[in-house]
Amino acid sequence: MDKNTKICIIGGGPAGLSAGMYLEQKGYDNYTILERNDHVGGKCHSPYYNGRRYEMGAIMGVPSYYAVHDVEEFCGITHDGPRLNRNYKDRDGNVIEPFEPMKNILKIPRLMKMKKQITELGRILETKYKGYDVNGHRGVAQGRYEGFAVSPEREPVSGENENLKDLSMPFKDWCALNEVDLVQDVWIGPFTAFGYGYFDEIPAAYVLKYLDFQTCMNFVRVNLWTWKYGTQYIWECLNEKLKNPARLNSVISRVERKDGKVFVTVNGETEEYDKLIVTSPLQFFPEYADTREDEEYYFSKIEFERYDVLAVETKPEDHPEISYYVFDNMTPDRLGHLMVYYRRWKDTRDQVITTYALRKHKNSEEIPYEECKQMVLDDLKTMKNPASNIVNEQSWYYFPHVFSDDYASGWYDDVEAM
Ligand SMILES: Cc1cc2nc3c(=O)[nH]c(=O)nc-3n(C[C@H](O)[C@H](O)[C@H](O)COP(=O)(O)OP(=O)(O)OC[C@H]3O[C@@H](n4cnc5c(N)ncnc54)[C@H](O)[C@@H]3O)c2cc1C
Repeated sequence: MDKNTKICIIGGGPAGLSAGMYLEQKGYDNYTILERNDHVGGKCHSPYYNGRRYEMGAIMGVPSYYAVHDVEEFCGITHDGPRLNRNYKDRDGNVIEPFEPMKNILKIPRLMKMKKQITELGRILETKYKGYDVNGHRGVAQGRYEGFAVSPEREPVSGENENLKDLSMPFKDWCALNEVDLVQDVWIGPFTAFGYGYFDEIPAAYVLKYLDFQTCMNFVRVNLWTWKYGTQYIWECLNEKLKNPARLNSVISRVERKDGKVFVTVNGETEEYDKLIVTSPLQFFPEYADTREDEEYYFSKIEFERYDVLAVETKPEDHPEISYYVFDNMTPDRLGHLMVYYRRWKDTRDQVITTYALRKHKNSEEIPYEECKQMVLDDLKTMKNPASNIVNEQSWYYFPHVFSDDYASGWYDDVEAM
């Protein structure tokens, strides 16, 4: 591609800003990032409260976030945030230690079995499912892998592996097929509680590409990164370093592709580009772009989660000691309930805590926003950490994905080909 190619990037979140950085590093400086909001960062959103930043969106990273590491290096920053730690409660608010054999004598056989299955999972992922963890979903439905390795070098890798087709099935079924059902007890925390849906509906490919074996073990060992000024700060720093920082408050009313060019109408003015990178939700692309019939067909198949976050104040005496996971609330029969709540700052009780709930599931009715909010507030009371006031709230359009049938019929390959 000519180094002067004029590139338009829609969205100033992690994907759009990183695209700008990587283009710049490869010598393509003629890019423009259009961001609809008055700030960058997208779902990395860290507002201020009492002089500190809390998280309404992303919270943490892991050492295998090599791309985030690239950004840190580019910006000269590091993950310098408060250490994460958590405990567990049951749905009645009692503190439990589900993974501690000595505290769960009756559960020892199950815990032993789970440990064995985790080892077995590690083994089959390395062998039977070789290639499962490469970056991206290209080829999986056809029994191929083709992408970048999960390693600091991220070397391109590709190969054939018929078994990868199994990854189209819901994770729950995939675990049953491989006789490792109990690993769900471990994977569920950083998956369902982090807003990615339920194991009976989400294809195993999504679970295992995000929580590849190493990454999941980092969660288990709490080997995690946070940022003192919030995850948004990473993207604010990157935006400042870029030769072409994002143009904020850019309202795109039309995208038209014609004669090998792209015409983008922004805040009423039409601009001409050679290439377009879309990092905003494809599902909404037809609302402003000249989408073809095939594009509309594929984009309409995109599913998403409703992931709700509340930031609440508590009285100092009601402030939680630590963050809590509520495993009982991470299955579809408890849709809309509080799954996890996060105390970010250990040294003070005058900061907000944030709560997380899902209210959409393939086989259930979506729970209305206000109803879910009330359930979460009631759950906080049950947890003995009642909220005294809501400071911020957000219902995120989250985790665009497709279900098993579309995944198995090659949705990603078809879209790549388009
Ligand atoms: C509650 C929550 C917790 C999370 N926790 C974690 C975590 O702990 N660790 C982790 O790694 N990830 C976490 N995530 C996920 C992480 O935030 C996302 O994966 C990441 O932000 C996705 O980046 P993106 O650029 O693809 O999309 P986004 O962050 O959504 O950015 C897209 C950008 O495009 C802009 N945009 C949209 N439409 C248009 C348009 N028409 N025109 C112009 N601009 C547009 C948006 O305003 C936005 O700025 C969490 C997310 C949420 C919501």
